[in-house]
Amino acid sequence: MALPGMRSRPSGSHRDQVVQAAVELANELGPGYSGGYTYEPTPDAAERAAVGNRVFERFHESSVPFEPAESAHIGRLAAALHDIFILFAEGEVAESVPLINALLREFPAAPHISAEPPWSLHYHDDSLAAAPGWQIGCAAALGSFVSSGAWRYIGRCEAERCDRVFLDDTRNRSKRFCSTRCQNREKVRSFRLRHAAARANDVTV
Ligand SMILES: [Zn+2]
Repeated sequence: MALPGMRSRPSGSHRDQVVQAAVELANELGPGYSGGYTYEPTPDAAERAAVGNRVFERFHESSVPFEPAESAHIGRLAAALHDIFILFAEGEVAESVPLINALLREFPAAPHISAEPPWSLHYHDDSLAAAPGWQIGCAAALGSFVSSGAWRYIGRCEAERCDRVFLDDTRNRSKRFCSTRCQNREKVRSFRLRHAAARANDVTV
């Protein structure tokens, strides 16, 4: 029997590292809002491929690099991952399931365990290009987040006009903002709001 509270907390496993990479991809190439502004990811094909390579660099064993020709696919994958993370953050897990399944089923999976320790379970091999390969890898990791309850550790920035996401592995899930910048913006904003409310009270008293 699983121990309550212990089975789902992200532990730095291969799965959690894949989810962390997916979070970074979603934040860099998923459209929405960031830091108070509308966020439009770069349309430049080479830059998109570079983002993909940087984000997944930690998995040196999967040596197939993202190519600029995959730019559209990389953008589509990042946007889909961002949508799924937002649903996790909002507690709309049931809504996320069809999106994850759609990502899983688009390309053939090749489940296998790595030949060397730490023997992580992988869902694609190098016969696939990077974008479809990591699409399966990310979707499998997100599927595991759903089934284990770890989806609760995905948060969305609470600052105004920001929807960047994060994996909150703090003990009591206390992370609220995507960055120090957003944390400071929100501090200033709530100070101004309190100040304005106090002034309004002065006028009416
Ligand atoms: Zn933010």
